[in-house]
Amino acid sequence: MAEGSETRDEAVGTPHPEATVGGGDARPDLRDLTLPELRAILGSLGEAPFRADQIWGFVYKRGHRTFAAMHTLSKELRARLEGELRFSDLPVLEVVRAGDGTEKFLFGLADGRAVESVLIPDGRRLTLCVSSQVGCAYACRFCLTGYRGFGRNLRPGEIVGQVMAAAAHAGADARITNLVFMGQGEPLANLDHVIAAIDILTQSSGLAISPRRITVSTVGLVPQMEELLRRTKVELAVSLHATTEASRSELVPSNRRYGLHALLAACAALPLAKRSRITFEYTMLDGVNDSDADRRRLAKLLRGTRCKVNLIPFNAFPEAPYRSSPLERIEAFAEGLRADGYAVMVRRTRGADVSAACGMLGRTEPKITH
Ligand code: SAH
Repeated sequence: MAEGSETRDEAVGTPHPEATVGGGDARPDLRDLTLPELRAILGSLGEAPFRADQIWGFVYKRGHRTFAAMHTLSKELRARLEGELRFSDLPVLEVVRAGDGTEKFLFGLADGRAVESVLIPDGRRLTLCVSSQVGCAYACRFCLTGYRGFGRNLRPGEIVGQVMAAAAHAGADARITNLVFMGQGEPLANLDHVIAAIDILTQSSGLAISPRRITVSTVGLVPQMEELLRRTKVELAVSLHATTEASRSELVPSNRRYGLHALLAACAALPLAKRSRITFEYTMLDGVNDSDADRRRLAKLLRGTRCKVNLIPFNAFPEAPYRSSPLERIEAFAEGLRADGYAVMVRRTRGADVSAACGMLGRTEPKITH
């Protein structure tokens, strides 16, 4: 993607082209449908609504990947379903395992593109980091995905498919406990598909993942943040990364549209669920945003907002003109914020040896083309 500021500004809040998947196939994809949508389609076919719930169970509880496998449905119904609906699959092209047990998945999309997810075991937790878009249009200066430019939005089924495939790979004894929308893309620039995917993932008769265990991370798109919290009960993470307008505009170009102060005012006013807090993400860049003055400004900016702070050591790559703050600096920054009363976590870098860490996705070239 061109590096001009015009291009970056245009990216903010502009509707992105939709995926043209399915090769001109007009049938809706079963994988993209929420349960109420599936019920409506079956209703329009003259089928009893409970059929939708039955099919839902086959797909999301038992992991069936074809209509043919749904043996308890009559042959006629299976044939009819095949006539009315596509049933896409998300093939795993590659799984690479890092020394720390983190696994990175490369998925092949129907149009020949590819997208990644990262599965991160951590004690009792098993967190899947999913992508919401192919690439990203937001061009954050310290994010490799941002340097690679934007491909397209993912369909709901392509988001849910990442979870289904990772869960199948993890096996029957493992259970994905947490989901973070921190893979490729800006989830709130693909809001409707992300919300449909959340709806499917949290459906109690299917995967039944609690929305409290789903975190959506955003570069800070204010109206979409508000809409997300109106329409779902998920947790929100906001990428802050700087404590002045000038510095944030440099690091996170979308700051020119939704500035730091406006963003924080919007965060303070969000209708958070009881016990819920916003996570502010802050990638620690040596000599850029890690001074004591930054720490004091950050503490002041966040005062009054129900939040926690997640400090992320910078994962370096050749294109980015930054280094990570030394670990001692990160710890001192964290301690200073804690002394001011904030809950602070330092995110451990995971999967770096296979380019699976934060901001490292998109290096792998797609393996298939059409
Ligand atoms: N588009 C979303 C998700 C981004 S990935 C967002 O902007 O929030 C999740 C977090 O990792 C974000 O806070 C992002 O800014 C941060 N990140 C990106 N590249 C990074 C890198 N190279 N090192 C450390 N953190 C990075």
